[in-house]
Amino acid sequence: MSRLPATPLSATAYVEQALVSLKARGLRLTTPRRRVVQLLADATHPLSAYDIKDLLAQQNTPVDTVSVYRVLEHLESLHLIHKVGSMGKVVACQRTHTPCQQTTNTSHPTEGHHHWHVLLLCVGCGQVSEAEAGEHLAQFAQRLHHEQQFMPQSGSLEVKGWCSQCQSPTS
Ligand SMILES: [Zn+2]
Ligand SMILES: [Zn+2]
Repeated sequence: MSRLPATPLSATAYVEQALVSLKARGLRLTTPRRRVVQLLADATHPLSAYDIKDLLAQQNTPVDTVSVYRVLEHLESLHLIHKVGSMGKVVACQRTHTPCQQTTNTSHPTEGHHHWHVLLLCVGCGQVSEAEAGEHLAQFAQRLHHEQQFMPQSGSLEVKGWCSQCQSPTS
């Protein structure tokens, strides 16, 4: 199992990965679907399905909300976006991961697992970034398995705080 890279995905790499994954799902890569993926890749702030719909309308690519939701559902089940639970919005996953072939390995539930995400939410400017903490969460998952007999499959953690730009002493 390859290790997660230390640097976040570029927008181009994200789009490429997402489109390959959607195609592997059997979805046609229509213009609206490509635009949704591109918007998510470029966004620095979490977006709701309605935000996406409005932005696409501004780009003269009108898409109905149901279609936006459907793409988001696929992207979420592919672990390509994260729901920001407290906001009802989504962000693109900034970490690369090869599509998971085996969703549950019952004998080694947490071995090599990569569906662990830590989202950093800035309360100042609303930006969301993703931290590299997969290993620690995997260890925590292992503990859950041993101590609580709970078999974790994936997880995400939202950490609220101040981004580097919002930490200036004048603010
Ligand atoms: Zn992620
Ligand atoms: Zn900030």
